[in-house]
Amino acid sequence: MGHIIWWQRDEVMVDLKSYIRDIPDFPKPGITFKDITPLLKAPEAFREAIEQLAQRYRDKGITQVVAIESRGFIFGAALAYAIGAGIVPVRKVGKLPAATYRESYELEYGTDSVEIHQDAITSADRVVVLDDVIATGGTLAAACRLVQSSGGEIHEAATIIELSFLNGREKLNDVPFFTLISY
Ligand code: AMP
Repeated sequence: MGHIIWWQRDEVMVDLKSYIRDIPDFPKPGITFKDITPLLKAPEAFREAIEQLAQRYRDKGITQVVAIESRGFIFGAALAYAIGAGIVPVRKVGKLPAATYRESYELEYGTDSVEIHQDAITSADRVVVLDDVIATGGTLAAACRLVQSSGGEIHEAATIIELSFLNGREKLNDVPFFTLISY
């Protein structure tokens, strides 16, 4: 799985989409899960994904990468390191030890919530909010609201994969959005 599509100078360009695996009916019937583990374990693809994000966000004054539990952490940590930013976790309820802000969002059945430490982001911060996948957009939008209520400025929200047919980016309102791969 995975294709290196062309070669120029010392750069290897890889087709990131070819490293995403569809898992039908996971975690429940009717859902096609976008599995990023083939991309993670292919050194050329993981590096390419991080490098594309780093090229976009380097020298933009980004102070923090706000990464969403849990697959967002994998990309967020590498991106933060690459651009010389810090990383701030957005987590499911009850995981963060100090005082938090909480935001809820709608699920198909019921609601879910995410939290951020109250002192993690200040008005001096310019951030990229990052997750692996945007589906309905509820999670990423809630993470953006957490940053905004902390006083931080959002440079952009970004994902590795967008399921564009679910129109999740519309939930982000005025926050600019970028994705590496779109379905
Ligand atoms: P949503 O709030 O609907 O945009 O869902 C986004 C969150 O759920 C992300 O953290 C994703 O990791 C996960 N997710 C939702 N749908 C999928 C999918 N089809 N494949 C993989 N992850 C998904």
